[in-house]
Amino acid sequence: LVSRKKQAEDTVVTLGSTQVGNGTPTIVAGPCSVESEEQVRAVAKALKNNGVTLMRGGAFKPRTSPYDFQGLGVEGLEILRRVADEYELQVISEIVSPSDIELATKYVDVIQIGARNMQNFELLKAAGNVNTPVLLKRGLSATMEEFLHAAEYIVSRGNKNVILCERGIRTYEKWTRNTLDISAVPLLKNESHLPVVVDVTHSAGRRDILVPLAKAALAAGADAVMVEVHPNPAVALSDAQQQIDIPTFDQFMTDLHASKLFP
Ligand code: PEP
Ligand code: MN
Repeated sequence: LVSRKKQAEDTVVTLGSTQVGNGTPTIVAGPCSVESEEQVRAVAKALKNNGVTLMRGGAFKPRTSPYDFQGLGVEGLEILRRVADEYELQVISEIVSPSDIELATKYVDVIQIGARNMQNFELLKAAGNVNTPVLLKRGLSATMEEFLHAAEYIVSRGNKNVILCERGIRTYEKWTRNTLDISAVPLLKNESHLPVVVDVTHSAGRRDILVPLAKAALAAGADAVMVEVHPNPAVALSDAQQQIDIPTFDQFMTDLHASKLFP
């Protein structure tokens, strides 16, 4: 069902006033984790100032270590919803448990399924049973075929609003946290009608190459670019070394607009 052979025309996911997959690229931005209402509000303001309508933020965090910050849970979703409504933004947030999918639909506009859960088949089925759009991230070492099969789990249950997200894969290279697999963008666009987003932040794991990676993603045909923004990355409770502050985000947007790859 996710194949171009089954559907030639692009799937367009409508999120409020923004359409993902209609040929005009968009930006998804926001903190790695929701930490407080003040933090989310500061980021929301920056998004609004830059004409960005899609805000991300993690409330349920799948952390490598059990001793790391695990997220605010439902309280985080409540904060996101409140601030998003105030600033007329759409909310994207990760859900990690099938039993939370139903609850999530009350708070978020897009359910994110993270890289570590790309083959959590019960979670994929649960996300397929609701109508809320899903942003599905590529697993850390998933092939294109495995990635599209994961998307098929969701679409085959009836939820056709799936956005695919390339977020870098595990390689031997250590200078980046993951390796952005730029080939994934044209491959996914050729093989599937679903929109494709590139998460430059988790691909790079560093701040200094986000603009060229975003330009590469857009040049390769990505429908959107995702980037993590935090008012004060140095004190962030997760991904402190890779989130960008608000002036850097403003510059990131200025650079993309100047590149002609972005309207
Ligand atoms: C995230 O986007 O918050 C995240 C945890 O990313 P990933 O699942 O790609 O590691
Ligand atoms: Mn993160």
